[in-house]
Amino acid sequence: MTSALRIVNGRIYDPAHGVDGAVRDLCISGGRIVADVPPDARRIDARGMVVMPGGVDIHCHIAGPKVNLARKVQPEDHRHDVHLRTRVTRSGTGGTVPSTFTTGYRYAALGYTAAMEAAVTPLGARHTLEEFHDTPVIDKGFYVLMGNNVLMYRLLQEGRHEEFRQTLAWWMSATKAYAPKLVNPGGDEFWKGQRNSNVTGLDQQIAGFDLTPRKVIAAFIEAGNELGLPHPVHIHCNNLGHTGNYQTTLDTMRIAEGRRAHITHIQFHSYGSVAGKSGDNPTSKAHEISEYVNTHPNISADVGAVMFGRSTSMTADAPLAYMLRRFGGGKWVNADTEHESGCGIVPFTYQDRNYTNALQWAIGLELFLLSDDPWRMVFSTDHPNGGSFMSYPRLIRLLMDSEFRKEQMAKVNQQALEHSGLRDCASREYSLSEIAIITRAGPARLLGLTGKGHLGVGADADVTIYEEDADKEKMFSTPRCVIKDGEPVIEDHEFRAEHEGRVFHVAPDYDPGIEQVIEPFFEDYYTIRFANYPVADRYIPHPQTVPTAPQAAEAGAVPAT
Ligand SMILES: [Zn+2]
Repeated sequence: MTSALRIVNGRIYDPAHGVDGAVRDLCISGGRIVADVPPDARRIDARGMVVMPGGVDIHCHIAGPKVNLARKVQPEDHRHDVHLRTRVTRSGTGGTVPSTFTTGYRYAALGYTAAMEAAVTPLGARHTLEEFHDTPVIDKGFYVLMGNNVLMYRLLQEGRHEEFRQTLAWWMSATKAYAPKLVNPGGDEFWKGQRNSNVTGLDQQIAGFDLTPRKVIAAFIEAGNELGLPHPVHIHCNNLGHTGNYQTTLDTMRIAEGRRAHITHIQFHSYGSVAGKSGDNPTSKAHEISEYVNTHPNISADVGAVMFGRSTSMTADAPLAYMLRRFGGGKWVNADTEHESGCGIVPFTYQDRNYTNALQWAIGLELFLLSDDPWRMVFSTDHPNGGSFMSYPRLIRLLMDSEFRKEQMAKVNQQALEHSGLRDCASREYSLSEIAIITRAGPARLLGLTGKGHLGVGADADVTIYEEDADKEKMFSTPRCVIKDGEPVIEDHEFRAEHEGRVFHVAPDYDPGIEQVIEPFFEDYYTIRFANYPVADRYIPHPQTVPTAPQAAEAGAVPAT
């Protein structure tokens, strides 16, 4: 049990409760926000400072087999960026793909207290959870790759919808995942079956199956909604990075037909073309994409902004990695995980003078600046794909400071700016409250994490205190104080304590009879026996099982608003 704390004199930003910079006390006891604490409780004076809930990253790549492959392929990054140990923290390495310990410390040092790993093969669940155990301070969870799963395809093709839903529930439970993830659905069968081949449209027949990406996406959206998962199906659309792909993105969002769906790193899916030809340079279709999201409250998205400099593309979209590796001409990795998913890793550098890179940068900013509802268009760089999470403070400054944005715009490829609408949104500046929404309150709400992203009584006491500064990059780079579960982990910009975060997962109910459908497939095709496949409870020392809607209703919980 942590001791009681009273934070005084700070300006509070708690958009979930309409608190927009009011100076008031914030009380903490037993790891939670409380209404009051005894007068002798320890005080933290936050005069001249901004108090926000801890940051919540809805989409990043921080743990598991593909992340580790990306570390192994870039040993030079480790040498150039050594993270020294301190009295309370352990050593590690940085670069675009930091080691486990460094990942936890550096997220915390930016004021983040939760991050969701966005793409794990079911077979990679154990590895991911083992790395989570080594990733300190922050809470974590992962999305499990289901969109190219051969058994799921077979059930869907045979019209066995109830078994499809049961199998999804089983897989989520067996791997201790948080949400189902679709990546380029249908693409893996082409990639595996024909040289350098990929799916190109939602209505194309998937190689070897009487199915289309459209049917696969619709089935997962339906099943995810029926199961009442706290976060809906998390979709990386087809045709990522291709000129003209915005039509595919619009069509994918239309498939949801009013049901909840989350479109991830939507910047990479917002490209048009000058003459309507796929061979042309891309142009920005941020306006069309924003308009659709703005007017469809069932859809949420994270931006996946691009920041200039080093990045590492790591994706379950293996054909995309093949395409990207042509640009850099350096090291790359491609891999496949049994019947579950593909994977590709490509170290990459975004350059401000490069037309396509500058356009991607501009589209990311446009999507933020055109958004009418910050609760549904939330913050991400798809770390480390569009840029490292270490670039978040700079991205915040680009959103909050139009003069700074103009200076940066002057340095990039001007032809790319001509083909974007960024100059048309020059005057908008995000407020601190809007930043609090896109970086914490919004992601927490989209994830269904009712204890995160706000400072109401009963919330987890994850609190970040920033010193106010006109330079927003500086302000968000080094919080003065970070409190995790009620414990001051960082004070006066220094780590004062180690902390082990929780792992969020779901355990949707399923009919145990479904195992008789799944087991024969394992015995026929998998390298691992069925009985050895589900992840045991001991892999998560600090679990938090987040209920599905039916489970919450049964427990009499008040639904999240
Ligand atoms: Zn991603």
